[in-house]
Amino acid sequence: MSRIELGHTADYHVHLRQGEMMELVAPTVREGGVSIAYIMPNLTPPLTDIDRVVQYQKDLQKLAPKTTFLMTFYLSKLLTPEIVAKAADENVIRGIKCYPAGVTTNSQAGVDPNDFSAFYPIFEVMQEKGLVLNLHGEKPSSHDSGEDIHVLNAELKFLPALAKLHKDFPELKIVLEHCTSKAAVDAIHELNKDLKPNEEPKVVASLTAHHLFLTIDDWAGNPVNFCKPVAKLPEDRRALLNAAVSGKPYFFFGSDSAPHDLSKKSTHVGVCAGVYTQRYAIGYVAEIFDKAGKLDKLKDFVSTFGNTFYCMDESKLVCKDKCVLVKKEVEIPDVIAFDDSKLKIAPFKPVEKLSWSTEWI
Ligand SMILES: [Zn+2]
Repeated sequence: MSRIELGHTADYHVHLRQGEMMELVAPTVREGGVSIAYIMPNLTPPLTDIDRVVQYQKDLQKLAPKTTFLMTFYLSKLLTPEIVAKAADENVIRGIKCYPAGVTTNSQAGVDPNDFSAFYPIFEVMQEKGLVLNLHGEKPSSHDSGEDIHVLNAELKFLPALAKLHKDFPELKIVLEHCTSKAAVDAIHELNKDLKPNEEPKVVASLTAHHLFLTIDDWAGNPVNFCKPVAKLPEDRRALLNAAVSGKPYFFFGSDSAPHDLSKKSTHVGVCAGVYTQRYAIGYVAEIFDKAGKLDKLKDFVSTFGNTFYCMDESKLVCKDKCVLVKKEVEIPDVIAFDDSKLKIAPFKPVEKLSWSTEWI
């Protein structure tokens, strides 16, 4: 098998930033073999109004005319059920991202995951309109409360809140984003245990490329691999890989590719969390699926399952090209530099080789 047609590949968790960084990385979505990109709203200030989302999508489209961009709001007190209903009716957004306050890049405006009740009127509207709730599933660290929450258990401690949301809004589509632990994988299986063969799941998890490779030893001392949620233990990584190749429709790809300028990664204080995988996104996933002997499951993971969950079909794409995985070696550079820019990005797996590239037909 040296060529595999992957269809309309989709990455359901993408950070493209703003300003010069956006100009540099928006075109790399397609270079990485991705046709549909689901765009995160954690800009400064966060995306909470229709006009700014429309403008952001226009800007991205100009930079990458063949990529289909799906847009999101940032869940905050600035949103109202009326704004959300209007944005849904006008097809401006496909979902809303929820960040617990303070857990990752530009999340200061986020919400308190101990109590979502203030947002229930918004979830009501989302459920009715078929919008997707995207959860950054971590509780903020707290060392003095007796709860002892830290980067290794922050996701585990969030899981009861996920179960409660699903119970309170059984028809709401919910994604536990960038799931990193065996506990989270088990929770998603459990929430879907009564799913009938042709029934569509309501609660799913997205999995990144880098968490399929990394464990705690890979980021302790290596800022390129440092991201939130952090990569966990070997048994967690195994659980994620098993979930990715399981053929279950409630696990699909969302890279959480998060570019930072090299100066923010190579500093002795305040290293930014985020791994940049966009330019080789499908190649990374293919590499690990290949190693697991599961390339036959790749198309489901990177196109079919996510597109079904988000109700995407060919009629909604700006470009109908299909992605083909090709057995062709590619070497990842040490640093990605761009012409006419001082910005540099450290890619995931610098100076390593991938066995697979992508083409478009
Ligand atoms: Zn993210």
